[in-house]
Amino acid sequence: MSYQTINPLTDEVIKTYDNHDDAYVEKAIAKGHALYKKWRNDPVESRAAALNKVADVMEAQTDELAKVLTLEMGKRFLEAQGEVAICVSIARYYAKNAAEFLKPEPIESSIGPAQTISRPTGVLMTVEPWNFPYYQIMRVFAPNFMVGNPMLLKHASYTPMAAGAFEKVVSEAGLPDGAFTNLYVDYDQVNHIIADDRVQGVALTGSERAGQLIAAEAGKSMKQSSLELGGSDPFIVLEDADLSEIKKIIGGARLYNAGQVCTSSKRFIVTENNYDAVLDMLKTAFAEAKIGDPMDATTTLAPLSTSNAKQNLTKQVKLAVEAGATLAYGSVEQNLPAAQFEPVILTNITKENPAFYQEFFGPVGQVYKVKDEEEAIALANDSHYGLSGVVFGGSADHAAEVASQLETGAVFVNSFGGTLPELPFGGVKNSGYGRELGRFGIETFVNKETIVTK
Ligand code: NDP
Repeated sequence: MSYQTINPLTDEVIKTYDNHDDAYVEKAIAKGHALYKKWRNDPVESRAAALNKVADVMEAQTDELAKVLTLEMGKRFLEAQGEVAICVSIARYYAKNAAEFLKPEPIESSIGPAQTISRPTGVLMTVEPWNFPYYQIMRVFAPNFMVGNPMLLKHASYTPMAAGAFEKVVSEAGLPDGAFTNLYVDYDQVNHIIADDRVQGVALTGSERAGQLIAAEAGKSMKQSSLELGGSDPFIVLEDADLSEIKKIIGGARLYNAGQVCTSSKRFIVTENNYDAVLDMLKTAFAEAKIGDPMDATTTLAPLSTSNAKQNLTKQVKLAVEAGATLAYGSVEQNLPAAQFEPVILTNITKENPAFYQEFFGPVGQVYKVKDEEEAIALANDSHYGLSGVVFGGSADHAAEVASQLETGAVFVNSFGGTLPELPFGGVKNSGYGRELGRFGIETFVNKETIVTK
């Protein structure tokens, strides 16, 4: 596999990267392990200033860092600046709160006073995707740096420049050698790293397929793992929902980051009385999207990450239509250059249609008509995924009751939620396991060591 920076607006190859050899990998593991041994005995708060420094360096370089994302995976520049900003806030959040989250917890036992101490477990391997190249790293790096787990990264082959830029930020912030190492490695090397005794966990964000393979490797050597995989999130509109609120957010709920968000709304499940209005709103939002150069501030819909992604998405749409779905907006043929993709709306998707259970990772919306909320909940839960979701209803309390019946990792009632450092992030079913962000996001790779004193 080769790591390349390719501009998805033009398909121009900007740079090709050499893979790191095994000797480089060995050095990275050894440095991380030595650091873990030291960090094990240092108080958590001793690392807070360094993490704040990472935030400061990132913030100062916002535009430079954002440009890398726009060039390499086509993210709108404004969204790329936003991604850097959320990374800064995640770093500051854990710098501020980690010591409290990880403080020793006293336990009364019949033997004598006991306490549980949170200790690092060792070097952590991470495999991350291209859709939020810095944010995906920071979600794991910030909490684990505070825990004391040095991090190795294998980033997506489409985003090597972003991986290198993040490593440079960490180095400029003055973090010790080995705290974070970017590796341009292939899958076999990843497997060897996971199997190494000095590596004690692996975190992946990516596809179900990658999840199966990485979790199997972790299982073989009995390593802790966390998986943040795809989602086909429902957006439920109840009978009494305030449509004017939905109108404001429906376009962004599907088109943000060119629709390549695991938690974006992908299945709009609408009660009969609102169906036509909501479908019209989505059509209007899609028609108003200005497709084009992601550096141009007037562009509202950026290209997909790669032309390969465009081909796959086009094929999914074609198969859905061949299996009987109605093309309510857009067309099967995609005629724009390189990775640019014109949005599509599919309706009348039956359970037999392959699209029914698929995730569409791009600007494709599925709209379903249901007779009542019971049917809406059943349809929402009839999915292999369970990552996030949205429920809109006139009574927030009632909508929250509906939300509580969804099998998913999170639900936003009467809003389309973004991501915040304090909100735990993760799913159930094929969306994976484990949580990132918030208090729970710091606990995955922690040794809760119990000490009992007689
Ligand atoms: P992948 O799962 O293939 O890629 C994600 C990361 O996993 C990349 O770094 C990739 O490396 C790596 N990877 C994949 N397989 C292995 C393996 N066997 N061993 C080690 N590393 C591996 O996702 P895609 O980029 O192909 O995207 C496809 C689908 O994944 C999307 O349609 C979406 O469903 C899901 N996805 C979900 C994301 C989320 O935020 N939850 C983000 C991105 C994708 P490499 O690039 O070198 O192959």
